[in-house]
Amino acid sequence: MRKPLIAGNWKMNTNLSEATSLVQAMLPELDRIAGVEKVLCPPFISLVAVRELIKGTSVELGAQNMFSEDKGAYTGEVSPLMLIDLCAFVILGHSERRQYFAETDEIVNKKVKKALGFGLTPILCVGERLEDNEAGRTEKIIKGQVQAALAGVNSTSHLVIAYEPIWAIGTGRAANGKQVNETIGFIRQTISQKYGKRVAQDLRILYGGSVTANNIAEFINQPEIDGALVGGASLKATEFLSIVKQTSEIKGHLSRED
Ligand code: PEP
Repeated sequence: MRKPLIAGNWKMNTNLSEATSLVQAMLPELDRIAGVEKVLCPPFISLVAVRELIKGTSVELGAQNMFSEDKGAYTGEVSPLMLIDLCAFVILGHSERRQYFAETDEIVNKKVKKALGFGLTPILCVGERLEDNEAGRTEKIIKGQVQAALAGVNSTSHLVIAYEPIWAIGTGRAANGKQVNETIGFIRQTISQKYGKRVAQDLRILYGGSVTANNIAEFINQPEIDGALVGGASLKATEFLSIVKQTSEIKGHLSRED
């Protein structure tokens, strides 16, 4: 009974007026789609405006990152205390943060603990590089990332994991649905070993990497895949709506509330 979740990661795209227009273009229809949790993750500067637009709808808000300290002399950073009034979700450990901003497993772990401590739901991203995938090291890498990110975390009741093979992100080269299903099953097993079967069964694990309206069904039809973290395709209103609608048609019945 895991409610499917589709999150749109807008990355460093859209200024304030473009973000507003994008939300306005999809909001009425997005709000009506049942059985799927819908999360928009615009840039920080648009969080307040998007929150106003989605108020009273079924659409939720997420940030793309946060720092691991509450406040202080950390010029340019955004703290969980600033986010808790604004949004429920925060993407952490995205491969672009790991690659371009030198975020290590240790940093991701600090952020995950801090986000959970403030009641934010981390969308924790893990994924292997192409060379690791080709060398058959995917499970080893993923297990290491999951264990490191969750070191010292006692409860995963507010947690979403996104499996995002690095070679599939923004490349147009999506992974294969069956293989993703196996890797996500493996992540669930890793969670089960640490937190027990029940926790693992309830945890939502998404796929991310070049998801489009044309390939979403391949992923959502797999039993272990609970939704998607969508980058590029979340910037196009009709495409994002189609991704959410297809998810609702395929897995919307799994939701308890709807
Ligand atoms: C992402 O931003 O997490 C992502 C998967 O991007 P894209 O869908 O563009 O590959």
